[in-house]
Amino acid sequence: AAKQRGKANWVRFTPEMERPVVADAQLGAELRRGLENGEFHVVYQPLVDLHLNRVIGVEALVRWQHPTRGVISPIEFIPAAERTGLIVPLGRFVLRETCMQAAAWLAEFGPEVLQKAGPNVSVRQLHDPDFVNDVRAALADSGLPGELLVLELTESAVLRGHQVSRALHELHDMGVRLALDDFGTGESSLSLLRAFPASIVKLDKSFVDGIEFDEDGTPEANARQAVARAVIQMAGALDLDTVAEGIENEEQAERLRRLGYSLGQGFHLAEPMSPAQVAAMLADQRAIHAA
Ligand code: C2E
Ligand code: MG
Ligand code: MG
Ligand code: MG
Repeated sequence: AAKQRGKANWVRFTPEMERPVVADAQLGAELRRGLENGEFHVVYQPLVDLHLNRVIGVEALVRWQHPTRGVISPIEFIPAAERTGLIVPLGRFVLRETCMQAAAWLAEFGPEVLQKAGPNVSVRQLHDPDFVNDVRAALADSGLPGELLVLELTESAVLRGHQVSRALHELHDMGVRLALDDFGTGESSLSLLRAFPASIVKLDKSFVDGIEFDEDGTPEANARQAVARAVIQMAGALDLDTVAEGIENEEQAERLRRLGYSLGQGFHLAEPMSPAQVAAMLADQRAIHAA
């Protein structure tokens, strides 16, 4: 039925949708077709040193250029890609693209500028028995050193089971770095961080939103500050790097600097952009710092 209705009636998936199975079947077919037709591409959001105001890496974010609907956000299709299993080939595509692109930037701009590059990885990919080999192959084919690859995982992904834990330790042994994304929103615990070979925690945007307004001393503002402070203290004690996500203005950046954050990401610093735009930004930065 979905097929007969055709592209014009393409169903927009929303979590509230009553019959996700039907929507998934249709969206799954669209995703599969899109993958075959090369409709996916990767954009890169710079990671910025908050003190030096320099780019030191990138996060890779997937985009879907749909033939009739324009660019679709990952928030709209990643959940369905996970449920249908298509996240495995899609994630492999993003991983390979990122490694190739990062290796090219490393060659052009050097290791000060490209210290970290990496995609988001879904729990479904971690359960795929080929995942570790896919990463190894992507590194070998691109020539990117494993130490530069940062895989972003969520706490809930990491919490799931023995097989995942083995894959994570194998990746760690290959030198690949693991980042805990959206930190503070899941079941964050110290024992998780001790058991998990992470090297980076990313403070979720929800703790950055409004962090500049503590003067009124509202309980919410105090709680945000307390979490941001606790995360940086814990990261320091465990020797982890931290990245603050979703910085939208200079007041937030300044507050985070004062709390001890040295790396940040957000629209105020740089938006997700095309590879050509990243290269232009890195070239500008090189010119400024060479001057
Ligand atoms: P995330 O990994 O936490 O990525 C950060 C998201 O926040 C990105 O949205 C980015 O564009 C957005 N962002 C960055 N700075 C700001 C800011 O200052 N303000 C606001 N409002 N937003 C900001 P995007 O690209 O739409 O991705 C959304 C989520 O989709 C990602 O969250 C990630 O969980 C998932 N995702 C994206 N690409 C992939 C992928 O290739 N594979 C998987 N499994 N998930 C992906
Ligand atoms: Mg991420
Ligand atoms: Mg994030
Ligand atoms: Mg987030």
